Amino acid sequence: MTNYISCLCGCTAQEVSLQPVESPSPLPLCHCVSCRLTTGMLFSAYLILQSSPKTFDSLIEYQQSDHISRWFCGKCGAHVFVRLKPQNKYLVASGLLTAEAFQTESVQHWGIDDTRDGGLSSFLPGTKAAVAACWVETGQFSHQVSPQRQLAPLNPAIDSEKDNQLHARCHCGGIQFFVTRPNALSSNALSPWPDLLVPYHSASSDNPEDVKWWLQAENTKYLAGACACASCRLASGFPVQSWAFIPKSNIFKPDHSPLSFDISTLQRYESSLAVYREFCNRCGATVFWHCKERPDVIDVSVGLLRAKSGARAEEWLEWATGRVSFAEDASDKTLIRMLETGLQMWEGKESCRAEFCSRPA
Ligand SMILES: [Zn+2]
Ligand SMILES: [Zn+2]
Ligand SMILES: [Zn+2]
Repeated sequence: MTNYISCLCGCTAQEVSLQPVESPSPLPLCHCVSCRLTTGMLFSAYLILQSSPKTFDSLIEYQQSDHISRWFCGKCGAHVFVRLKPQNKYLVASGLLTAEAFQTESVQHWGIDDTRDGGLSSFLPGTKAAVAACWVETGQFSHQVSPQRQLAPLNPAIDSEKDNQLHARCHCGGIQFFVTRPNALSSNALSPWPDLLVPYHSASSDNPEDVKWWLQAENTKYLAGACACASCRLASGFPVQSWAFIPKSNIFKPDHSPLSFDISTLQRYESSLAVYREFCNRCGATVFWHCKERPDVIDVSVGLLRAKSGARAEEWLEWATGRVSFAEDASDKTLIRMLETGLQMWEGKESCRAEFCSRPA
């Protein structure tokens, strides 16, 4: 079965052959810490290839462990392939496949134990893998799990967990930063409405009343939500990008200086005019989205956050449950529909919903 894949910039476009499956099998979503920190997503989603990729041109290899290499696009940062060395098998990131090639019928959750709070699996009804492991490591070929390589240590300056700092880092440790609690400066920023709260097809994104929508729960948390737009999908390789919307004034580098986009391994891809996506050029993690029109509120990849409560960082973030951004543009429509249904069924978020009700009709 031949399929066509492409990342956002197109550099890695090629044909691939998916391993045929006899009956519809669930899409394995891996929520483990390695998958989150190498991608910036809250889960990875890969499918098995029948044969080796035709080319690795334009791809950068990240040797995650002795057993696993991940390849991502050196220009736009999209994760594309994984090689499982012991089995000499290759996987392809599911977000790069065309809609005709792949629609999820059901999901199986892997690595949930790593999330502490369930991560996005709480919103996605599915089965839980019997083995506590990274799916990418097992690849469903065997349940023998190789020991995980030790993560690079956190910068000592930000190593001590403090309640007023939320630390973030990618898998290779090249990108490290921290977020502070909302404060007086957090409402200085100006921004149009995001599609997450005001869908592009329903109303203008103009925000004449200057609602500080990124501040939630009486200005104690930041808004977070899932995005299914084609750009996020093709720049990451995965069907769901989770963003937290954080004022630039609340993001700091490990030396406590204000955020700038020259952090050691951070690389920029201008995905459209004056729209910037930043990723780690060593491990491929998606890190930030920002744009000229909205310079003071930054989209931060939730997969990199290291909150005490777990992957969803709920002591810091209020999750939007009303919508997945750009759900209409989703390639894997059934997966996004499942996620939207799961979000809407999510309970215990009354304050969040009430706040969303104040948005313009
Ligand atoms: Zn690319
Ligand atoms: Zn994993
Ligand atoms: Zn990295």
